[in-house]
Amino acid sequence: MVDNYNELHELTESLFARLFPICRSITGNGVRESLRILKEYADFQTKEYRSGTQCYDWTIPKEWNIKDAWIKDARGNLLVSFKDNNLHILNYSAPVHGTFSYTELLSHLYTLPEMPDAIPYRTTYYEEKWGFCLEHDRFLQLNQDEVYEVMIDSILEDGYLTLADALIKGISEEEIVISTYCCHPSMGNDNLSGMILATLLYRFLSKRENRYSYRFIICPETIGAICYLKHHEEAMRKVSHCFVLTCVAGQGEIGFKETFLGNHELDRICTLVLDEAGIEYKQYPFSPNGSDERQYSSVAFRIPTVLITKDKYYDYKFYHTSKDDLSFITAANLLEAYNIYIKALCCLEGNVKIESLKPQCEVRLGQRGLYPNTGGIITAEREVGSDKPLFRNKEVCRDETDLSLWILFLADGRHTVLDIAERTGANFDLICEKVRVFENNNLLRII
Ligand code: ZN
Repeated sequence: MVDNYNELHELTESLFARLFPICRSITGNGVRESLRILKEYADFQTKEYRSGTQCYDWTIPKEWNIKDAWIKDARGNLLVSFKDNNLHILNYSAPVHGTFSYTELLSHLYTLPEMPDAIPYRTTYYEEKWGFCLEHDRFLQLNQDEVYEVMIDSILEDGYLTLADALIKGISEEEIVISTYCCHPSMGNDNLSGMILATLLYRFLSKRENRYSYRFIICPETIGAICYLKHHEEAMRKVSHCFVLTCVAGQGEIGFKETFLGNHELDRICTLVLDEAGIEYKQYPFSPNGSDERQYSSVAFRIPTVLITKDKYYDYKFYHTSKDDLSFITAANLLEAYNIYIKALCCLEGNVKIESLKPQCEVRLGQRGLYPNTGGIITAEREVGSDKPLFRNKEVCRDETDLSLWILFLADGRHTVLDIAERTGANFDLICEKVRVFENNNLLRII
């Protein structure tokens, strides 16, 4: 059966604790170790691609691994240490060991003056150099007359880019991609939360019978997605919808970033699910800037991709800093996003076209026991066990009787459950339930 809330909460907390400390990058053992942990809970398959492999306009870089890095003063005092926080290293730094004057060191230091107690997250994937990231407060304490000893024990060598995928086969071969990235070192919302959500969604989808097939992709951002598309071109042509999981456990509002189409089924489903949830949410227009939606929606693939987020990238104060840590994210926040994702996936699964089997004039529902015989009976108003109204637009559809009429009226083989939900303001699950009843009574068929 599907994991219950307490099990999900416990699993999320345990994955936070195990995955957070790992120093990840776009290649290397941090990615391997993270995927190995996720594979304890989901049947992801690891795949590796050699450094130097050409992927469209990009080349897989050398593999990067690091053991230690520090800056010491002339007396041997440790000033900055990778072992304290892996964000202290400019990610992908080349190895170095030597002494440097303050002035020489300056061009290798990165700080965030506007948030002086935070370490910024910086990378140098495609330019071979070295550097350290540190709190601006700590930087201000460096003595300008001092000579510093610097050591970075890293290796850049021909190796592999590592990623993982999984396919859950459904009734249809039409695929839905659920993609996330696994390349950020110790930060919580971006991107620990996405990896964990992917694992939870895999567990949910793998335990039920689905209409669609689901392809999970966990790869380093940008180069990993490009590499995956290059090596799975044919399969990716079967993909009709995509979700990119990123930044789903922050403290801010839920929101969603629209597909490049703006009015695609995914956009409409996100709007519906969030409206039905009755929560305040943000709606971000599509932009070709962002996460791997850039690759999946690019000209050759054009896969409509949506992102439901909780504190979207770029938007939250602690984005790409050491303050995006385990005190910024919570399992409860992540599970709030999880529940919205589950609703969206269930809507997608349930969004079928329906066609009447008795299209000539009105059907006599009363004769079939499908119509409340005493007129004017108002049926259930709210979802079971919640305060969410079942009918959000009373002027159009007041109750279940109205809804029955609407469903049969729109069952012309062109309208879907989503169309009916939008037109009537009635609850999506309730419509599905009624469609099933009408189907069992041979009043309509699902196309
Ligand atoms: Zn990021």
